[in-house]
Amino acid sequence: MDPNCLFCKIVARKIPGKIVFENERVVAFEDIAPVAPTHVLLVPREHFASTLEVDLSRHAVVGELVQVAAQLARERGFAADGYRLVFNTNAGAGQTVFHLHLHLLGGRTFRWPPG
Ligand code: 5GP
Ligand code: ZN
Repeated sequence: MDPNCLFCKIVARKIPGKIVFENERVVAFEDIAPVAPTHVLLVPREHFASTLEVDLSRHAVVGELVQVAAQLARERGFAADGYRLVFNTNAGAGQTVFHLHLHLLGGRTFRWPPG
């Protein structure tokens, strides 16, 4: 855990977060400023900054983030309509929290390309 990391603190329940799923490897919680009817952030318990730090040892947990997101999409009823998964990487893509997180956005239609 990085003591200065916001998402590490949510995972450790040192600050409040609306956790919707967790297991030994991943935690999912509601985004504090949702941009869609569903906006969930999925994070590995292990602290690392971004997709730039994904190596072979992390393939499984990154895949699990995608699988858990798909499961939440099914449970919330928008899997068939469609949903969006986003990893923002570094400032130019809008990353503001440097603990890897997958955005699950669902419950509305999305335009392409994104802004
Ligand atoms: P990024 O811009 O790094 O891809 O995404 C960071 C996300 O974290 C944003 O969507 C932002 O709304 C969310 N966020 C920032 N602070 C908090 C917080 O304290 N709690 C929760 N649940 N989400 C947060
Ligand atoms: Zn962290």
